[in-house]
Amino acid sequence: MDAVLKPCPVCNSEAELKEAHYFESELPYSYVHCTNEGCTLNHNAAHFSASKSEAKNDQDAISAWNKREQIPAHH
Ligand SMILES: [Zn+2]
Repeated sequence: MDAVLKPCPVCNSEAELKEAHYFESELPYSYVHCTNEGCTLNHNAAHFSASKSEAKNDQDAISAWNKREQIPAHH
């Protein structure tokens, strides 16, 4: 599995994998976002709910982020 994060497709800044918890849930979720606060992908990140394990969430989030690089960014 490819666990390496590609740089942001919009601004080429470093990407970061984050984990958090839904307010009303004990289940963690993972997402990847751009570390550049001025970038559209800083807050527009896909979330992946916990279904199996945190490691699976991480992998899903990373995979989605990396695939997204091939999608034209909308500003
Ligand atoms: Zn960015």
